[in-house]
Amino acid sequence: MSPRRASCLVCGPGPVDEAILGGRLRQCLACGFAWTVGAADPTPDLYDDTYFGGGGYEDYFLPGPRRFEASRRLRWLRSTVRPQSLLEVGPAGGFFLEAARRCGIDVYGVEVSAAATRYARDRLNLPVQQGNFESATLPERVDAVCAFHVLEHVTDPWQFLCAARAALRPGGALVLEVPNIASAAARLLGEQWPGLQPEYHRWHFTPGSLAHLVTMAGFRVLRQDTTVFRYYMPLRYQLRHAHRLLPSDWSATRSLRLVHPRQGDLVRLVARATDGE
Ligand SMILES: [Zn+2]
Repeated sequence: MSPRRASCLVCGPGPVDEAILGGRLRQCLACGFAWTVGAADPTPDLYDDTYFGGGGYEDYFLPGPRRFEASRRLRWLRSTVRPQSLLEVGPAGGFFLEAARRCGIDVYGVEVSAAATRYARDRLNLPVQQGNFESATLPERVDAVCAFHVLEHVTDPWQFLCAARAALRPGGALVLEVPNIASAAARLLGEQWPGLQPEYHRWHFTPGSLAHLVTMAGFRVLRQDTTVFRYYMPLRYQLRHAHRLLPSDWSATRSLRLVHPRQGDLVRLVARATDGE
């Protein structure tokens, strides 16, 4: 449980890390990046119907909220880059790909879950292949690789970012979103923070450690900020749950804003592959 000299995935060897949250995680004291102790390798079995259907993700295939979330993500992305082709890793039901296709973007998905792949292919008629992105054979290079809530699950984030670079055309864009363990709510709620999920999340990013990792992997960060969970909830849902959501956001951030430079629950960034510069 005491601090020790170890190796941080982001900083490399040398920095001190310490146990946090009852020893479930260890955190690098230099960059704030944390990792789950004894995390299991992600396998298709881990992301079966239980994950998408009953593990707190029961709304994964609810078209209303997912289409709202997808439209917000796409608008944010397109305010920074304008891809003609896009690959999403971990598209789940496929609602972001659906929104992107509706904007005239050529889309493709790689999804580890068989249940989610079936939904995206059969219900939304999307070109999604089931499998592991890092070892997938992809049809062609794309202008943007997107991964929302994926990097915290993967076996090796370096390997993932290397595969993302290989999938991109020179100068292509990487778009990521992950939970922010340095958020005001994470610090306030500790193990009760909904973004933690150590049973699924191996890696726990801060805005700084995510930007550093991406930069070291050969990308230049064009844009980065954070949002609170409420940002992705349709207004009628926010209003219905306002009595619960607003006080918790206020106590965590002292603000009712949906987007913050660093304090929100989710950190997102757009970065450009530097081989195009
Ligand atoms: Zn570190």
